[in-house]
Amino acid sequence: MEHTNQAGMSKESFEKLLEEVHKIGEEIMRPNARDVDANARFPQESIDAIKKLKLMGAYIPTELGGLGLNITQLARVCEALGQYCGSTAMIFAMHQIQVACAVNHGLSNEHFKNYLKKVASDSRLLASATTEMGIGGDLRQSICAVEQNGDSFTLTKNAPVISYGKQADDLFITSRRTPDSPANDQVHVVVSKEDYELEPSMAWDTMGFRGTCSEGFLVKSKGHIKQIIPAPFADILSQSMHPTSHILWGSLWLGIATDSVNMARAFVRDMMKKNPNAPQTAALRLAEVHSVLQLMRENVHGCAEHYQQLLSENNAEALDTFSFSVKINNLKISSSSLIIDIVSKSLLICGIAGYRNDTKYSLSRHLRDAYGASLMVNNDRIMNHNATLLHMHRGD
Ligand SMILES: Cc1cc2nc3c(=O)[nH]c(=O)nc-3n(C[C@H](O)[C@H](O)[C@H](O)COP(=O)(O)OP(=O)(O)OC[C@H]3O[C@@H](n4cnc5c(N)ncnc54)[C@H](O)[C@@H]3O)c2cc1C
Repeated sequence: MEHTNQAGMSKESFEKLLEEVHKIGEEIMRPNARDVDANARFPQESIDAIKKLKLMGAYIPTELGGLGLNITQLARVCEALGQYCGSTAMIFAMHQIQVACAVNHGLSNEHFKNYLKKVASDSRLLASATTEMGIGGDLRQSICAVEQNGDSFTLTKNAPVISYGKQADDLFITSRRTPDSPANDQVHVVVSKEDYELEPSMAWDTMGFRGTCSEGFLVKSKGHIKQIIPAPFADILSQSMHPTSHILWGSLWLGIATDSVNMARAFVRDMMKKNPNAPQTAALRLAEVHSVLQLMRENVHGCAEHYQQLLSENNAEALDTFSFSVKINNLKISSSSLIIDIVSKSLLICGIAGYRNDTKYSLSRHLRDAYGASLMVNNDRIMNHNATLLHMHRGD
C-alpha cells in the first residue's frame, strides 16, 4: 500500500462539510428520492449537488486536489447521504470504493497520480465491473482477459450489472491478467469513456436501489498498459476493496435504517399529540427498534475505526489476516440483516401509513432498498468464506 490518507480533514472543517451534506440532503435529495425510485432514474440533481461540494474527490489526498477525508469521515458522509436517498448514497459509495483502490494501490505510478488529479478537478464519476456473466458475484474469478499487444491492450467483459454504467466517466474492470492466466490471477483495469463501448444487455427494473441504474452491458474496451493498476487484484481486494465496500455500504444502510427510525419516532410523536391516552405499545416498539439501531451503528463505526487504525499504521500484513477478513465479512452479514430488521420494525410502528406509498411516513422505498443489501455479494457466499476461514483460524 502506498498512500493511506488517514490524517483526514480537520474536525471543524469536517463538521461544516457534514452540515452542507445534510443541507443538500434536505433540499435536493429527499424531495427527489421518490421520483428517482418510481422512475428508476439516475439522481442527476443530487449527484450535481454532491459534485458542487467537491465530494467526488473526497478520499483523494489534498496534494492531488482532493478533500483528503479519512475512511471514518468518508463513512460518515455515506451514512448522512443514506438518510435522504439510498440510490444516491449507493452511487456515491461505489464511486468512492474505486477511488480508494486507486489511491491505496496506484500512487507509485505517475499515470494514476495524474488520473486521480483529474478525478478530483473534473469530478469524474467512477463505476465498477466486477460481476461477470458465468461467474456471478465471485470477485476472485474472472473469465475475461487482458489481451496485450505491445503497450496497448483490449479487454471485453460481459457484465450483467454495472451501476450507473451509462452515466460513468470511467470503469474499473476486474479481469484475468492474460488469456493464459488462471481465473484467479486477476488485475484491475481502469478505462475512460473514450476507451470503451457499452452494448446494453440487461435492463434494471428491480425491487430497490432503482436509481442506481445498474444495467447489464457487454463492455468492449482498449487502452495503454499503464491503465492497469500495478498491484495484483488479490491485494487490492483484501486491503482496500473488501473493507472499503463493506464499511461504506454498511454506513449507507445505517443511514437508511436511521431515517426509518426517525420516521417511526415522528409517527409516535404525532400519534401521542393527537391522542395522549393512546396505548404506549408503539412507543415501546420505538424503544426496541432504537436499541437495534444502536447495535448496528456501533458495529459499523467500530469497524470503520479499526480499518482506519490499520491504514494509518500502513499495516498491510494485518489487513491480509483471516481475523480481519472474518470481521469485515461479519460486518457485511450483520449490517445487511439488521437494516431489514430495523426498517420492518419501523413499519410495524407506522402501520398502514408506512405501508402506503403516498404518506410522509411511507417506508416502501426503505424496505425495498433494504432487501438489496444481502445480495450485493450474496451473504451465503460470504458465510461460506467465513466457515472456511474459521476452520483454519485459531481464535481472536
Ligand atoms: C444495487 C446493486 C448494485 C450493484 N452494482 C454492481 C456494480 O456496479 N458492479 C458489479 O460488478 N456488480 C454490481 N452488483 C452485483 C452484486 O454485487 C453481485 O455480485 C451480484 O448481484 C451477484 O449476482 P447473483 O446473485 O446472480 O450471483 P451469486 O452471487 O452467484 O448468487 C446466486 C446464488 O448462488 C449461490 N452461490 C453461488 N456460489 C456460491 C458459493 N460459492 N457459495 C455460496 N453460495 C453460492 C448464492 O448463495 C445465491 O443463492 C450490484 C448489485 C446490486 C443489488
